[in-house]
Amino acid sequence: MDPALTAEARSLLASVRATLKELAEEGVEQFDRTSDDAIGLPPRRDAPALPESDRELAQSHPREKAQALEAVRLELGECTRCPLCKGRDQIVFGDGNPEAALMFIGEGPGQEEDRRGLPFVGRAGELLTRMIEHGLEIPRSEVYICNIVKCRPPKNRTPQPDEVAACRPFLDGQIDAVRPRTIVTLGRPATSLLLGRDVSITRVRGTWHEYRGIPLMPTFHPAYLLRQYTPENRRVVWDDLKAALARSRQ
Ligand code: URA
Repeated sequence: MDPALTAEARSLLASVRATLKELAEEGVEQFDRTSDDAIGLPPRRDAPALPESDRELAQSHPREKAQALEAVRLELGECTRCPLCKGRDQIVFGDGNPEAALMFIGEGPGQEEDRRGLPFVGRAGELLTRMIEHGLEIPRSEVYICNIVKCRPPKNRTPQPDEVAACRPFLDGQIDAVRPRTIVTLGRPATSLLLGRDVSITRVRGTWHEYRGIPLMPTFHPAYLLRQYTPENRRVVWDDLKAALARSRQ
């Protein structure tokens, strides 16, 4: 068999396994074979349903966005474009609804993300998930979450410029495929990349910007918030997320 096909089959199998595991954790025991919804993630039982405006957005381009996203994933393949491929266990492409109104962009996968093939599933991810589900009161499966690099940097260091440059077309591809109504950048590296200059996250968080014509709100990275879990930091991140959600629903 063609080795590229074998690698792709392995990668697809890994993401199917990760999705099934996630569904099992959510209590899904069987699929309805006759429904188109069977291939989509169902809303989490402990989170409220989407408001009407988000449902309308999701139905406005049925499947086109999912297909565009799938094309970006296929183009990425079993990537060896930068040295990060050597240390990874799995590519962590992205997670969530291709039709999302709200998109979160972090830095790069950590150990748990590399192990599970999903972004933001470690400690920082648990905090992000809580903020989305219990703070914003939307299911995590309804937003789209990804990182500026898709492979884990060694010892979770900040990705190097050549690694970011190699991955950037795929991040831009994800943004163009999903076309969210609002982007939230998490932390300095993602914010600096999309704003095109080295920023101080403390200065720019909470202020509106734009990337590829999409409103962008920078905020603190949840890993920083875990380290500096002060009432003030929690309040400002909460303000940023509420502003981003409101803008995504305008
Ligand atoms: N930090 C990130 O920036 N991304 C992840 O996926 C996990 C932790």
